[in-house]
Amino acid sequence: MPTTFEPGAPVTTGIPLCVPHLAGREWEYVKECLDTNLISAVGPFVEQFEAAMCRFLGCPHALATVNGTAALHTALLVAGVRPGDEVLVSDLTFVAPANAIRYAGARPVFIDAEPGTWQISPAGVSDYLRLHCWCDNGVMRSRISGAPVRAIIPVHILGHPANMPSLLPLAREFGLTVIEDASESLGASCGGRPVGTWGDLACFSFNGNKIISTGGGGMLVTVRPDWARRARHLSTQAKQDPLEYVHDEIGYNYRLTNVLAALGCAQVEQLRHFVAAKRRLAAAYRQGLYGLPGVILPQEADWAYCSYWLYTIRLDPVRARLDRRALLHALAAEGIQSRPLWQPMHLSPAHAGCGPQMPCPVSEQLYQQSLSLPSSTSLTPQDQARVIAAVRRALEP
Ligand SMILES: *Cc1c(COP(=O)(O)O)cnc(C)c1O
Repeated sequence: MPTTFEPGAPVTTGIPLCVPHLAGREWEYVKECLDTNLISAVGPFVEQFEAAMCRFLGCPHALATVNGTAALHTALLVAGVRPGDEVLVSDLTFVAPANAIRYAGARPVFIDAEPGTWQISPAGVSDYLRLHCWCDNGVMRSRISGAPVRAIIPVHILGHPANMPSLLPLAREFGLTVIEDASESLGASCGGRPVGTWGDLACFSFNGNKIISTGGGGMLVTVRPDWARRARHLSTQAKQDPLEYVHDEIGYNYRLTNVLAALGCAQVEQLRHFVAAKRRLAAAYRQGLYGLPGVILPQEADWAYCSYWLYTIRLDPVRARLDRRALLHALAAEGIQSRPLWQPMHLSPAHAGCGPQMPCPVSEQLYQQSLSLPSSTSLTPQDQARVIAAVRRALEP
């Protein structure tokens, strides 16, 4: 049966972009939940999953949540972000962190990407704070709106870390709380220190295409015990007295269930192998696509260790034979799914006019020119060779 990948359609045959890899003890652990009747948020796998993430990252506190977006929303509330505040965030990102900022009633300030790493630009952050803000009794305020600038969410996109060694001192200088969105980059690190351990708080996602998956799920991690306690409280309906059902503020129902945490436990056991598999895929793509006219391959910065969540190439509009849309359709015709990047947040109708507008020419260009290739950790060398051959056929002069 010939397969075409219509963007957005479910994938049944052919080579998908990125699918879960359930190669470990998933069945065993989920069966244990069913056998013990512990299928809700009460159960041993939730704590085990949190502990396993703490061990992997080397961080003291973790809270499993229903998804990564819920973790981000909780992190913003814990960080004390209030309605009307400004929060700096990557312009080139999946929409979740921008939405979470809006859930908190705050205004996102979208910061452009760096051309080399595609991550949030430390120079862009510095420019905004130095040129467009002033310091009012130790609190940075926007010159445009007068609102306090409370936090920054660097999003580590596509498996490459944001430049934390440059961003962290800036955040400290200007008194911003740092919330890392490490959803796409679990397993990556900067200068040997894992993403998710640089900020005051960090969030991960385990949705269907992330490096480890629980179907849907997320995790909030932090070094601060008081913030970990508060996050747990907020995510369990802010229940103060478990017997009398006294709730001391408006809480959320954001906890992960034991069944999904069981999947998470089995997945974390395989995480190091998954990172190694992603890096092998990246090396094979690098070798297979090297020298193809107009194709710009992703770069790993010399301070970065990349987990290559999605291997994403950029097409030079002058030298490449096709643009990314035409390449997407050429690959789809051969049963190969690929995907463009996300519409930059400053262009999103959902976030139009919600905060001060900074120019973001780099993220616009990357969005116009880039395409992610199949990156499942279960992708076989044969199937990857098919993808490489198809890209070469489409782009060779
Ligand atoms: C996947 C992802 C999230 C979280 O998504 P959920 O589906 O809510 O788990 C957040 N931020 C980024 C950048 C993501 O890619």
